[in-house]
Amino acid sequence: MYSPGLKKLGAEFGLTAGKGRVYGLLEGFPVSMWDGAGTKNMLIYLGEPRDAAEDAQTDLQALLPRELEAYRIMQYELVDDLPLLLVVFHDNPGTLKRIRQFLQEAVPALREAGLSQVYYCAQCGKAFEGAPEIDLVDGTPVPVHAYCQEDFAREIEEDEREEREQLRQESAEALLDGSILKGVLGAFLGALIGSIPWVLIYMFGYLASIGGILIGMGAVFGYKKLSGRVGTACVVSAVVFAALMVPLACYAGEAAILLKEFIAGNLEPLRMSDFGWLFRSITALAEWRESFRQNVLMGYLYAALGLIAFLISKRHGLRNRPAQQSPKDV
Ligand SMILES: [Zn+2]
Repeated sequence: MYSPGLKKLGAEFGLTAGKGRVYGLLEGFPVSMWDGAGTKNMLIYLGEPRDAAEDAQTDLQALLPRELEAYRIMQYELVDDLPLLLVVFHDNPGTLKRIRQFLQEAVPALREAGLSQVYYCAQCGKAFEGAPEIDLVDGTPVPVHAYCQEDFAREIEEDEREEREQLRQESAEALLDGSILKGVLGAFLGALIGSIPWVLIYMFGYLASIGGILIGMGAVFGYKKLSGRVGTACVVSAVVFAALMVPLACYAGEAAILLKEFIAGNLEPLRMSDFGWLFRSITALAEWRESFRQNVLMGYLYAALGLIAFLISKRHGLRNRPAQQSPKDV
């Protein structure tokens, strides 16, 4: 944006005010000015001297008739290695006077050094005959033919669209090979750890299916912990791992009971090496299968409860988090 004072100053030098900038051609240079936070800023697009030698370096500061401080200049440098000179003035009462001084003394000195002699169109690359025509692009005064402006604007827009698309793809890829994978691992570990109480409860003869709650919660918690986000992939992997872990926990509970009997010495005639055989024969019984089925179904019910409850609380927690700063905000 620009202040009325800056606009007035620009008018003295034949500059236009619009699109948030005071801009135009000054001593042959495409120039734009605007007010910053506690600063006044200026961009000067430098051309080339007519007889410029290859790799000729100009000491831009040495060309100035006064020290930078005399103009209240805080920053005086080329932007991104472009022939674009950024001049930042410290803004307090009297700064407009210093800027006027800079425009009256320093800019002519740059012109005398030949820096506004030859300009090339940013679109077609052809050198301008005489003074360049300019277009304001994102606040930057760019030399571009009037008849090239339309193409130039379109190409910039295409570039920006491509950049956005690339950014979107990159973040999608990062999500796929990074956080989602970690989250799936987390859901697995969470469900696995959540199933331990089930096995213990069952081993001591209580209704173990209530332990399903912890399996469901563990899956969501694990996903969230390792991936840092809760989304569709979280719900899917938590459901899958809870669904796998409930029957496994049920099975492991059964095996744990048998193991306990062995260790307690209640199965004297049988030895530890018979464990596998005995377990298989028990699980082959129709009765056992029926109770197993019921256990698993109950377990699923509780796992669903735990999963949903935890998911809702996590989602709520995420929503209350302050939005992350995007790089565009810098
Ligand atoms: Zn052109």
